[in-house]
Amino acid sequence: MSEIVIENVHIAPVAGPEIESGYIRIEGDRIVALGPGPTPGAPAGATRIDGTGCLATPGLVNTHHHLYQWASQGLAQDATLFEWLVALYRVWAAMDAEVVKGAATAGLGWLALSGCTTSSDHHYVFPKGRGDLLAAAIEAAGEVGIRFHPARGSMDRGESRGGLPPDVVVEELDDILAATTAAVDTYHDPSFSSMVRVAVAPCSPFSASGELMTESAALARDKGVRLHTHLAETLDEDRHCMEQFGMRPVDYMEKLGWLGPDVWLAHTVHLSEADVGKLAATGTGSAHCPSSNGRLGAGIAPVAEMLRRGVNVGLGVDGSASSELTPLAGEMRQALLFQRARYGPDALTARQALELATLGGARNLGRERELGTLEPGKLADLALWRVDGPFTAAVMDPVCALVFGPLPPLARVLVGGRSVVVDGELRTVPQDAAGRAGADAHRRLMRLAEEAGFGSAGQAR
Ligand SMILES: [Zn+2]
Repeated sequence: MSEIVIENVHIAPVAGPEIESGYIRIEGDRIVALGPGPTPGAPAGATRIDGTGCLATPGLVNTHHHLYQWASQGLAQDATLFEWLVALYRVWAAMDAEVVKGAATAGLGWLALSGCTTSSDHHYVFPKGRGDLLAAAIEAAGEVGIRFHPARGSMDRGESRGGLPPDVVVEELDDILAATTAAVDTYHDPSFSSMVRVAVAPCSPFSASGELMTESAALARDKGVRLHTHLAETLDEDRHCMEQFGMRPVDYMEKLGWLGPDVWLAHTVHLSEADVGKLAATGTGSAHCPSSNGRLGAGIAPVAEMLRRGVNVGLGVDGSASSELTPLAGEMRQALLFQRARYGPDALTARQALELATLGGARNLGRERELGTLEPGKLADLALWRVDGPFTAAVMDPVCALVFGPLPPLARVLVGGRSVVVDGELRTVPQDAAGRAGADAHRRLMRLAEEAGFGSAGQAR
Protein backbone atom coordinates (compact mmCIF):
# COMPACT_ATOMS: atom_id res chain seq x y z
CA MET A 1 0.00 0.00 0.00
CA SER A 2 1.43 3.38 -0.98
CA GLU A 3 2.28 5.74 1.86
CA ILE A 4 2.63 9.53 1.85
CA VAL A 5 3.94 11.79 4.58
CA ILE A 6 3.37 15.55 4.45
CA GLU A 7 5.73 17.32 6.84
CA ASN A 8 6.36 20.80 8.29
CA VAL A 9 2.87 21.95 7.37
CA HIS A 10 0.33 24.25 9.06
CA ILE A 11 -2.78 22.08 9.42
CA ALA A 12 -6.33 23.45 9.63
CA PRO A 13 -8.21 20.17 10.09
CA VAL A 14 -11.65 21.86 10.56
CA ALA A 15 -12.33 19.29 13.32
CA GLY A 16 -10.05 19.75 16.30
CA PRO A 17 -7.30 22.27 17.03
CA GLU A 18 -5.03 23.75 14.36
CA ILE A 19 -1.42 22.62 14.25
CA GLU A 20 1.19 25.27 13.39
CA SER A 21 3.82 22.84 12.18
CA GLY A 22 3.02 19.17 11.91
CA TYR A 23 2.64 16.09 9.75
CA ILE A 24 -0.08 14.14 7.98
CA ARG A 25 0.42 10.44 7.22
CA ILE A 26 -1.56 8.73 4.47
CA GLU A 27 -1.82 5.03 3.68
CA GLY A 28 -3.61 4.07 0.49
CA ASP A 29 -6.64 6.37 0.23
CA ARG A 30 -6.94 7.17 3.99
CA ILE A 31 -5.42 9.53 6.51
CA VAL A 32 -3.90 7.35 9.24
CA ALA A 33 -2.33 9.95 11.53
CA LEU A 34 -1.63 13.64 11.96
CA GLY A 35 -0.07 15.69 14.70
CA PRO A 36 2.46 18.34 15.69
CA GLY A 37 6.19 18.13 15.08
CA PRO A 38 8.08 15.57 12.99
CA THR A 39 6.53 12.29 11.87
CA PRO A 40 6.92 9.46 14.35
CA GLY A 41 7.83 6.20 12.65
CA ALA A 42 7.23 6.94 8.96
CA PRO A 43 8.35 4.00 6.84
CA ALA A 44 11.48 4.46 4.72
CA GLY A 45 9.54 3.84 1.50
CA ALA A 46 6.94 6.58 2.07
CA THR A 47 6.68 9.48 -0.39
CA ARG A 48 7.64 12.61 1.52
CA ILE A 49 6.08 15.97 0.70
CA ASP A 50 7.67 19.00 2.32
CA GLY A 51 4.82 21.26 3.41
CA THR A 52 7.02 24.14 4.56
CA GLY A 53 5.19 27.39 3.87
CA CYS A 54 1.92 25.57 3.15
CA LEU A 55 -1.51 25.39 4.78
CA ALA A 56 -3.23 21.99 4.68
CA THR A 57 -7.04 21.99 4.62
CA PRO A 58 -9.58 19.31 3.80
CA GLY A 59 -10.33 19.19 0.07
CA LEU A 60 -13.18 21.57 -0.75
CA VAL A 61 -16.63 20.16 -1.55
CA ASN A 62 -18.78 21.83 -4.20
CA THR A 63 -22.46 21.22 -3.54
CA HIS A 64 -24.13 22.98 -6.46
CA HIS A 65 -23.09 23.18 -10.10
CA HIS A 66 -24.30 22.75 -13.68
CA LEU A 67 -21.17 21.69 -15.52
CA TYR A 68 -22.73 21.88 -19.00
CA GLN A 69 -23.11 25.64 -18.52
CA TRP A 70 -19.35 26.02 -19.04
CA ALA A 71 -20.34 26.01 -22.75
CA SER A 72 -22.72 28.99 -22.39
CA GLN A 73 -20.76 31.52 -20.34
CA GLY A 74 -20.91 35.24 -20.93
CA LEU A 75 -24.53 35.35 -22.16
CA ALA A 76 -27.51 37.29 -20.75
CA GLN A 77 -25.08 39.32 -18.68
CA ASP A 78 -27.52 41.79 -17.11
CA ALA A 79 -30.59 39.59 -16.64
CA THR A 80 -32.65 38.42 -13.69
CA LEU A 81 -32.78 34.66 -13.11
CA PHE A 82 -36.02 34.23 -15.06
CA GLU A 83 -34.83 36.44 -17.96
CA TRP A 84 -31.51 34.60 -18.00
CA LEU A 85 -33.19 31.19 -18.04
CA VAL A 86 -35.58 32.15 -20.83
CA ALA A 87 -32.61 33.41 -22.88
CA LEU A 88 -30.59 30.24 -22.34
CA TYR A 89 -33.08 27.31 -22.28
CA ARG A 90 -33.17 27.17 -26.08
CA VAL A 91 -29.39 27.33 -26.38
CA TRP A 92 -29.08 24.44 -23.92
CA ALA A 93 -31.67 22.45 -25.90
CA ALA A 94 -29.02 22.03 -28.60
CA MET A 95 -26.36 20.43 -26.37
CA ASP A 96 -25.13 16.92 -26.97
CA ALA A 97 -22.84 14.46 -25.20
CA GLU A 98 -19.74 15.96 -26.83
CA VAL A 99 -20.62 19.41 -25.45
CA VAL A 100 -21.18 17.96 -21.98
CA LYS A 101 -17.91 15.98 -22.03
CA GLY A 102 -15.85 19.03 -22.98
CA ALA A 103 -17.66 21.37 -20.59
CA ALA A 104 -17.38 18.90 -17.70
CA THR A 105 -13.68 18.26 -18.34
CA ALA A 106 -12.91 21.97 -18.23
CA GLY A 107 -15.29 22.68 -15.36
CA LEU A 108 -14.02 19.87 -13.14
CA GLY A 109 -10.39 20.65 -13.98
CA TRP A 110 -11.04 24.26 -13.02
CA LEU A 111 -12.58 23.16 -9.72
CA ALA A 112 -9.58 20.95 -8.91
CA LEU A 113 -7.35 23.97 -9.54
CA SER A 114 -9.17 25.81 -6.74
CA GLY A 115 -8.75 23.02 -4.18
CA CYS A 116 -11.97 21.12 -4.87
CA THR A 117 -11.82 17.36 -4.39
CA THR A 118 -15.55 16.50 -4.56
CA SER A 119 -18.20 18.09 -6.74
CA SER A 120 -21.87 17.64 -7.34
CA ASP A 121 -23.40 18.41 -10.74
CA HIS A 122 -27.07 19.20 -11.19
CA HIS A 123 -27.84 18.36 -14.80
CA TYR A 124 -31.47 18.98 -15.70
CA VAL A 125 -31.65 19.50 -19.49
CA PHE A 126 -31.84 16.24 -21.45
CA PRO A 127 -32.82 16.97 -25.05
CA LYS A 128 -33.87 13.83 -26.95
CA GLY A 129 -31.45 12.04 -29.27
CA ARG A 130 -28.35 13.88 -28.09
CA GLY A 131 -26.44 10.98 -26.55
CA ASP A 132 -25.91 9.95 -22.94
CA LEU A 133 -25.26 13.29 -21.26
CA LEU A 134 -24.96 11.91 -17.73
CA ALA A 135 -22.42 9.28 -18.83
CA ALA A 136 -20.38 12.00 -20.54
CA ALA A 137 -20.08 14.01 -17.31
CA ILE A 138 -19.24 10.92 -15.25
CA GLU A 139 -16.54 9.97 -17.77
CA ALA A 140 -15.03 13.46 -17.49
CA ALA A 141 -14.99 13.23 -13.69
CA GLY A 142 -13.19 9.89 -13.90
CA GLU A 143 -10.51 11.44 -16.10
CA VAL A 144 -10.03 14.55 -13.95
CA GLY A 145 -9.98 12.33 -10.86
CA ILE A 146 -12.23 14.13 -8.38
CA ARG A 147 -15.15 12.61 -6.51
CA PHE A 148 -18.38 13.18 -8.35
CA HIS A 149 -21.98 13.44 -7.18
CA PRO A 150 -24.09 13.81 -10.34
CA ALA A 151 -27.66 14.78 -9.53
CA ARG A 152 -29.98 13.48 -12.26
CA GLY A 153 -32.07 16.57 -12.79
CA SER A 154 -35.34 16.94 -14.64
CA MET A 155 -38.07 19.29 -15.83
CA ASP A 156 -41.61 18.27 -16.84
CA ARG A 157 -43.45 21.56 -16.45
CA GLY A 158 -43.03 23.52 -19.66
CA GLU A 159 -44.79 26.70 -20.73
CA SER A 160 -47.95 24.83 -21.75
CA ARG A 161 -48.35 23.67 -18.13
CA GLY A 162 -47.66 27.03 -16.50
CA GLY A 163 -43.91 26.51 -16.10
CA LEU A 164 -41.07 28.76 -17.21
CA PRO A 165 -39.11 26.57 -19.68
CA PRO A 166 -40.23 26.10 -23.29
CA ASP A 167 -41.81 22.69 -23.91
CA VAL A 168 -38.86 21.72 -26.13
CA VAL A 169 -36.55 21.26 -23.11
CA VAL A 170 -38.86 19.32 -20.78
CA GLU A 171 -39.33 15.55 -20.53
CA GLU A 172 -42.31 13.31 -19.77
CA LEU A 173 -42.70 12.16 -16.16
CA ASP A 174 -42.41 8.43 -16.96
CA ASP A 175 -39.28 8.97 -19.06
CA ILE A 176 -37.69 10.97 -16.24
CA LEU A 177 -38.39 8.35 -13.60
CA ALA A 178 -37.10 5.52 -15.83
CA ALA A 179 -33.91 7.42 -16.70
CA THR A 180 -33.33 8.43 -13.08
CA THR A 181 -33.79 4.86 -11.87
CA ALA A 182 -31.33 3.66 -14.51
CA ALA A 183 -28.81 6.34 -13.49
CA VAL A 184 -28.90 5.26 -9.85
CA ASP A 185 -28.74 1.54 -10.72
CA THR A 186 -25.85 2.04 -13.14
CA TYR A 187 -23.61 4.56 -11.41
CA HIS A 188 -24.41 4.98 -7.70
CA ASP A 189 -21.68 3.56 -5.47
CA PRO A 190 -22.54 3.78 -1.75
CA SER A 191 -19.11 2.53 -0.56
CA PHE A 192 -16.90 4.55 1.82
CA SER A 193 -14.30 5.33 -0.88
CA SER A 194 -16.94 5.97 -3.55
CA MET A 195 -15.93 8.18 -6.48
CA VAL A 196 -19.51 8.44 -7.86
CA ARG A 197 -22.78 8.86 -6.00
CA VAL A 198 -26.01 9.79 -7.75
CA ALA A 199 -28.73 12.09 -6.38
CA VAL A 200 -32.26 12.75 -7.64
CA ALA A 201 -32.90 16.37 -8.56
CA PRO A 202 -36.02 17.84 -10.22
CA CYS A 203 -34.96 21.34 -11.22
CA SER A 204 -37.18 23.86 -9.38
CA PRO A 205 -40.78 24.60 -8.39
CA PHE A 206 -41.25 26.62 -11.58
CA SER A 207 -40.05 23.85 -13.94
CA ALA A 208 -41.04 20.60 -12.19
CA SER A 209 -44.59 19.47 -11.43
CA GLY A 210 -45.70 18.55 -7.93
CA GLU A 211 -46.13 14.98 -9.14
CA LEU A 212 -42.54 14.88 -10.40
CA MET A 213 -41.34 16.19 -7.04
CA THR A 214 -43.25 13.60 -5.00
CA GLU A 215 -42.44 10.69 -7.33
CA SER A 216 -38.76 11.71 -7.30
CA ALA A 217 -38.72 11.80 -3.51
CA ALA A 218 -40.27 8.34 -3.36
CA LEU A 219 -37.74 7.00 -5.88
CA ALA A 220 -34.76 8.50 -4.02
CA ARG A 221 -35.92 7.20 -0.65
CA ASP A 222 -36.57 3.75 -2.10
CA LYS A 223 -33.02 3.68 -3.52
CA GLY A 224 -31.39 5.30 -0.48
CA VAL A 225 -29.96 8.27 -2.41
CA ARG A 226 -30.19 12.00 -1.75
CA LEU A 227 -32.52 14.69 -3.05
CA HIS A 228 -31.57 18.08 -4.43
CA THR A 229 -33.35 21.02 -6.05
CA HIS A 230 -33.22 24.81 -6.41
CA LEU A 231 -35.31 26.72 -3.87
CA ALA A 232 -36.15 30.25 -2.77
CA GLU A 233 -33.59 31.75 -5.13
CA THR A 234 -35.45 34.91 -6.21
CA LEU A 235 -38.50 37.02 -5.42
CA ASP A 236 -39.86 36.07 -8.87
CA GLU A 237 -39.93 32.46 -7.65
CA ASP A 238 -41.70 33.55 -4.49
CA ARG A 239 -44.41 35.27 -6.57
CA HIS A 240 -44.68 32.28 -8.92
CA CYS A 241 -45.25 29.91 -6.00
CA MET A 242 -47.85 32.20 -4.41
CA GLU A 243 -49.73 32.54 -7.70
CA GLN A 244 -49.55 28.90 -8.79
CA PHE A 245 -49.60 27.02 -5.48
CA GLY A 246 -50.96 29.56 -3.00
CA MET A 247 -47.93 29.24 -0.76
CA ARG A 248 -44.27 30.21 -0.55
CA PRO A 249 -41.44 27.88 -1.67
CA VAL A 250 -40.46 26.29 1.67
CA ASP A 251 -44.10 25.64 2.58
CA TYR A 252 -44.60 24.08 -0.86
CA MET A 253 -41.61 21.78 -0.32
CA GLU A 254 -42.94 20.81 3.09
CA LYS A 255 -46.29 19.91 1.52
CA LEU A 256 -44.54 17.74 -1.09
CA GLY A 257 -42.50 15.83 1.52
CA TRP A 258 -39.31 17.52 0.36
CA LEU A 259 -37.86 18.65 3.71
CA GLY A 260 -35.59 16.21 5.53
CA PRO A 261 -32.04 15.16 6.38
CA ASP A 262 -31.64 13.57 2.92
CA VAL A 263 -32.39 16.87 1.10
CA TRP A 264 -30.13 19.78 0.27
CA LEU A 265 -31.46 22.90 -1.44
CA ALA A 266 -29.55 25.28 -3.69
CA HIS A 267 -29.66 28.99 -2.77
CA THR A 268 -32.36 29.44 -0.05
CA VAL A 269 -31.96 33.23 -0.40
CA HIS A 270 -35.49 34.37 0.44
CA LEU A 271 -36.37 32.72 3.74
CA SER A 272 -38.65 33.91 6.52
CA GLU A 273 -37.80 33.18 10.14
CA ALA A 274 -40.32 30.35 10.02
CA ASP A 275 -38.67 28.96 6.86
CA VAL A 276 -35.27 28.83 8.58
CA GLY A 277 -36.93 27.06 11.50
CA LYS A 278 -38.39 24.42 9.17
CA LEU A 279 -35.02 23.74 7.54
CA ALA A 280 -33.38 23.45 10.97
CA ALA A 281 -36.08 21.21 12.43
CA THR A 282 -36.01 18.81 9.48
CA GLY A 283 -32.22 18.70 8.97
CA THR A 284 -32.55 20.06 5.42
CA GLY A 285 -29.25 21.45 4.07
CA SER A 286 -28.50 24.54 2.01
CA ALA A 287 -26.00 25.09 -0.81
CA HIS A 288 -24.94 28.74 -0.70
CA CYS A 289 -23.80 30.17 -4.05
CA PRO A 290 -22.91 33.80 -3.36
CA SER A 291 -21.26 34.69 -6.70
CA SER A 292 -24.21 33.44 -8.71
CA ASN A 293 -26.66 35.20 -6.40
CA GLY A 294 -24.67 38.38 -6.86
CA ARG A 295 -24.36 38.01 -10.65
CA LEU A 296 -28.14 37.56 -11.04
CA GLY A 297 -29.00 40.16 -8.39
CA ALA A 298 -30.96 37.48 -6.53
CA GLY A 299 -30.15 38.67 -3.02
CA ILE A 300 -28.03 37.56 -0.06
CA ALA A 301 -28.89 34.27 1.64
CA PRO A 302 -29.25 34.46 5.45
CA VAL A 303 -26.29 32.14 6.03
CA ALA A 304 -25.34 33.55 9.44
CA GLU A 305 -28.94 33.18 10.59
CA MET A 306 -29.18 29.63 9.22
CA LEU A 307 -25.95 28.64 11.00
CA ARG A 308 -27.07 30.25 14.24
CA ARG A 309 -30.24 28.19 14.18
CA GLY A 310 -28.52 24.92 13.24
CA VAL A 311 -29.12 24.61 9.49
CA ASN A 312 -26.26 22.89 7.66
CA VAL A 313 -24.78 25.11 4.94
CA GLY A 314 -22.32 24.15 2.23
CA LEU A 315 -20.97 26.17 -0.69
CA GLY A 316 -21.51 25.91 -4.44
CA VAL A 317 -20.17 27.73 -7.45
CA ASP A 318 -23.47 27.21 -9.33
CA GLY A 319 -23.35 26.82 -13.11
CA SER A 320 -20.62 28.73 -14.90
CA ALA A 321 -23.19 30.58 -17.01
CA SER A 322 -24.34 32.48 -13.90
CA SER A 323 -20.94 32.77 -12.22
CA GLU A 324 -18.29 32.77 -14.93
CA LEU A 325 -15.07 30.95 -13.99
CA THR A 326 -15.85 31.08 -10.27
CA PRO A 327 -13.21 29.16 -8.29
CA LEU A 328 -14.75 27.22 -5.40
CA ALA A 329 -12.20 28.51 -2.87
CA GLY A 330 -13.18 32.06 -3.84
CA GLU A 331 -16.73 31.35 -2.65
CA MET A 332 -15.40 31.26 0.92
CA ARG A 333 -14.40 34.90 0.53
CA GLN A 334 -17.65 35.83 -1.21
CA ALA A 335 -19.68 34.15 1.52
CA LEU A 336 -17.73 35.93 4.23
CA LEU A 337 -18.03 39.34 2.57
CA PHE A 338 -21.73 38.94 1.75
CA GLN A 339 -22.61 37.94 5.32
CA ARG A 340 -20.57 40.78 6.81
CA ALA A 341 -22.10 43.27 4.38
CA ARG A 342 -25.54 42.13 5.55
CA TYR A 343 -25.05 41.42 9.26
CA GLY A 344 -21.78 43.08 10.38
CA PRO A 345 -18.14 42.05 10.85
CA ASP A 346 -18.81 39.20 13.28
CA ALA A 347 -21.35 37.47 10.99
CA LEU A 348 -18.94 34.85 9.63
CA THR A 349 -15.30 34.12 10.53
CA ALA A 350 -12.60 32.85 8.18
CA ARG A 351 -12.71 29.47 9.91
CA GLN A 352 -16.48 29.26 9.61
CA ALA A 353 -16.14 30.02 5.90
CA LEU A 354 -13.60 27.19 5.58
CA GLU A 355 -16.00 24.88 7.43
CA LEU A 356 -18.82 25.73 4.99
CA ALA A 357 -16.55 24.80 2.07
CA THR A 358 -15.48 21.49 3.60
CA LEU A 359 -17.51 19.84 6.37
CA GLY A 360 -20.69 21.74 5.46
CA GLY A 361 -20.36 20.48 1.90
CA ALA A 362 -19.64 16.92 3.02
CA ARG A 363 -22.80 16.98 5.17
CA ASN A 364 -24.90 18.23 2.27
CA LEU A 365 -23.74 15.24 0.23
CA GLY A 366 -24.19 12.78 3.12
CA ARG A 367 -20.44 12.13 3.34
CA GLU A 368 -19.40 13.63 6.68
CA ARG A 369 -18.09 10.23 7.85
CA GLU A 370 -15.64 10.09 4.95
CA LEU A 371 -14.90 13.69 3.94
CA GLY A 372 -14.81 17.29 5.09
CA THR A 373 -12.19 17.20 7.87
CA LEU A 374 -8.60 16.01 8.27
CA GLU A 375 -8.84 13.16 10.77
CA PRO A 376 -7.42 9.64 11.00
CA GLY A 377 -9.74 7.21 9.24
CA LYS A 378 -11.09 9.75 6.74
CA LEU A 379 -10.33 9.74 3.03
CA ALA A 380 -7.08 11.49 2.08
CA ASP A 381 -8.71 14.36 0.18
CA LEU A 382 -6.81 17.54 0.95
CA ALA A 383 -5.42 20.76 -0.43
CA LEU A 384 -2.00 22.25 0.29
CA TRP A 385 -2.10 26.03 -0.17
CA ARG A 386 1.18 27.89 -0.60
CA VAL A 387 0.92 30.79 1.82
CA ASP A 388 4.60 31.79 1.92
CA GLY A 389 4.62 33.71 -1.36
CA PRO A 390 6.19 37.16 -1.40
CA PHE A 391 2.80 38.81 -0.86
CA THR A 392 0.72 36.20 1.02
CA ALA A 393 3.54 35.77 3.56
CA ALA A 394 2.70 39.26 4.83
CA VAL A 395 -0.68 38.03 6.14
CA MET A 396 -0.26 36.92 9.73
CA ASP A 397 -2.70 34.00 9.79
CA PRO A 398 -2.64 31.39 6.95
CA VAL A 399 -6.39 30.72 7.18
CA CYS A 400 -7.00 34.47 6.91
CA ALA A 401 -4.66 34.56 3.87
CA LEU A 402 -6.72 31.80 2.24
CA VAL A 403 -10.17 33.21 2.95
CA PHE A 404 -9.78 37.01 3.09
CA GLY A 405 -7.28 37.34 0.26
CA PRO A 406 -7.06 36.32 -3.37
CA LEU A 407 -6.49 32.60 -3.88
CA PRO A 408 -3.02 31.44 -2.92
CA PRO A 409 -1.34 28.97 -5.29
CA LEU A 410 -1.86 25.26 -4.69
CA ALA A 411 1.19 23.16 -3.96
CA ARG A 412 -0.85 19.96 -4.10
CA VAL A 413 -4.38 18.58 -4.26
CA LEU A 414 -4.83 14.96 -3.22
CA VAL A 415 -7.95 12.89 -3.83
CA GLY A 416 -7.79 9.60 -1.95
CA GLY A 417 -4.01 10.05 -1.76
CA ARG A 418 -3.69 10.55 -5.52
CA SER A 419 -2.08 13.78 -6.74
CA VAL A 420 -4.58 15.59 -8.96
CA VAL A 421 -2.81 18.99 -8.83
CA VAL A 422 0.93 19.51 -8.27
CA ASP A 423 2.50 22.98 -8.11
CA GLY A 424 -0.59 24.63 -9.56
CA GLU A 425 -0.82 22.24 -12.54
CA LEU A 426 -3.47 19.64 -13.22
CA ARG A 427 -1.72 16.25 -13.44
CA THR A 428 -4.49 13.82 -14.28
CA VAL A 429 -5.39 15.31 -17.67
CA PRO A 430 -3.20 17.79 -19.54
CA GLN A 431 -4.27 21.21 -18.29
CA ASP A 432 -4.15 22.87 -21.73
CA ALA A 433 -6.25 20.07 -23.20
CA ALA A 434 -8.87 20.47 -20.43
CA GLY A 435 -9.12 24.19 -21.16
CA ARG A 436 -9.36 23.62 -24.90
CA ALA A 437 -12.08 21.00 -24.36
CA GLY A 438 -14.18 23.67 -22.63
CA ALA A 439 -13.59 26.25 -25.35
CA ASP A 440 -14.42 23.68 -28.05
CA ALA A 441 -17.61 22.75 -26.17
CA HIS A 442 -18.62 26.43 -26.15
CA ARG A 443 -18.08 26.83 -29.90
CA ARG A 444 -19.87 23.56 -30.64
CA LEU A 445 -22.91 24.49 -28.53
CA MET A 446 -23.19 27.93 -30.15
CA ARG A 447 -23.03 26.32 -33.60
CA LEU A 448 -25.56 23.60 -32.74
CA ALA A 449 -27.96 26.17 -31.27
CA GLU A 450 -27.65 28.35 -34.36
CA GLU A 451 -28.23 25.38 -36.71
CA ALA A 452 -31.26 24.21 -34.72
CA GLY A 453 -32.74 27.71 -34.90
CA PHE A 454 -32.91 27.68 -31.10
CA GLY A 455 -31.08 30.96 -30.66
CA SER A 456 -27.53 32.14 -30.72
CA ALA A 457 -24.93 33.86 -28.67
CA GLY A 458 -25.94 37.18 -30.20
CA GLN A 459 -29.62 36.79 -29.29
CA ALA A 460 -28.87 35.53 -25.82
CA ARG A 461 -26.44 38.30 -25.02
ZN1 LIG B 1 -28.26 26.21 -10.03
